[in-house]
Amino acid sequence: MVNPPAAARRALPSVDRLLQQPQVAALIEQYGRPLVVETIRSIIDAQRAAMAQNIAAVDETALITRCAEYLAAATRPSIRPVFNLTGTVLHTNLGRALIGKIAAEAAMQAMTCAVNLEFDIDGGARGERDSHVEDWLRRLTGAEAAVVVNNNAAAVYLVLNTFAQKKEVIVSRGELVEIGGAFRIPDIMTRSGCKLREIGTTNRTHAKDFVEAIGDRTAALMKVHTSNYAIQGFTSAVPESEVATIAHEHQLPFWVDLGSGTLVELERWGLPHEPTPRDAIGNGADLVTFSGDKLLGGPQCGLIVGRKDLIAKIRKNPMKRALRIDKMRMAALEATLRLYADPDKLVKEVPTLRLLTRPQKDIAAQAARLLPALAAAVGDSADAAVIDCASQIGSGALPVDALPSAGIAITPRGKNRNSAAKRLSNAFRKLPWPVIGRVKDGAFIIDLRCLDDEARFVAQLAQLHAVQGTRD
Ligand SMILES: *Cc1c(COP(=O)(O)O)cnc(C)c1O
Repeated sequence: MVNPPAAARRALPSVDRLLQQPQVAALIEQYGRPLVVETIRSIIDAQRAAMAQNIAAVDETALITRCAEYLAAATRPSIRPVFNLTGTVLHTNLGRALIGKIAAEAAMQAMTCAVNLEFDIDGGARGERDSHVEDWLRRLTGAEAAVVVNNNAAAVYLVLNTFAQKKEVIVSRGELVEIGGAFRIPDIMTRSGCKLREIGTTNRTHAKDFVEAIGDRTAALMKVHTSNYAIQGFTSAVPESEVATIAHEHQLPFWVDLGSGTLVELERWGLPHEPTPRDAIGNGADLVTFSGDKLLGGPQCGLIVGRKDLIAKIRKNPMKRALRIDKMRMAALEATLRLYADPDKLVKEVPTLRLLTRPQKDIAAQAARLLPALAAAVGDSADAAVIDCASQIGSGALPVDALPSAGIAITPRGKNRNSAAKRLSNAFRKLPWPVIGRVKDGAFIIDLRCLDDEARFVAQLAQLHAVQGTRD
């Protein structure tokens, strides 16, 4: 190979010259001048470097096309909607609960209008941010008062930081939970300046373990809902009411971290029981913490409900300010809580509950409906079949119980099925509205429980072939 003649290198157009081309004027109109200038510069630089490596010169039109492609890719929104067909309804990496239309509209209004976030309209004076939801939370949990913060991790932190700095909190070893994304109860305890006093063993903790651990430095007794695992076999845990009695005999607060915390009895829809904040308060808890975007089906936030004097102390902690939620989420939370006034409407209006309670036969019927389109989309390379599968609630709720569901398994033909299934999974993720499923036993599996927009799903299948890539 010979070096490209100096003349060819010189033949690269200048940035100014490209900027004067009509197609580039259109790009400037769309993306703004600074971004286009920056892109043209880097594309010319890259082309100059490529030519020094004896890679053929390209003409001006090709450079401009490259520039347009780059700009389109660089300005595509980073947060994009996807189809969550993983079978996990509250998928933390996919954004957990979907809020309903009513809550979304409330959030939109709070975003685009001035609102009485901390303003008492009747009195014309400063108001309290949490006041918008406190009455609802009192009504729905039986607690005396409530505080709302950024998420449940923040709620846990704030409780510890308010009551247990330089003191001890007593927790059973069987409840030292790690939740996905490296949130560990023991770590957050350390960070909030509190000492964790572990008692009992992994599988068994008794009332006397709590009693014996109580000392001068004890700040609280805590129970954590072991939401993402179950300890089975030779086990023993101390019931909430008993821990509450022990705590109160020693003038200590008893706190329950529920994690998910549904505000309704899930049994009414044939789902397994999940403990409610009302249960915990009824059992004598002085404080209960739970998430807004797990089973509650609202925006991301953390709720602390409980005794009025304790909530007042939490509110006075300067860290509350650092952990508070914004007006959008407050509006969405209030709208979501209002829906709980009428449990009969919940399934219709709260997407999380609608998805969790979808009857298996509806999902199976949807799978049968979609099968021909999927079979056609994958062509001769794979077999598609309707399957029974099991969805999970996710985000730690009800770890052992699975919800009967239905989906479609796409099994590549030929050998090396596992890597072919992974490529298929890749291709589905590359669709304009990425489809997120899972690969299991040499098949790509989609659970249809959370598929709402069937028409959109089918419409983009025609593009699957184009993004499918090479085969074995
Ligand atoms: C999920 C969970 C948390 C953390 O809640 P986030 O809202 O994700 O911050 C804390 N404790 C328990 C028991 C949980 O299940």
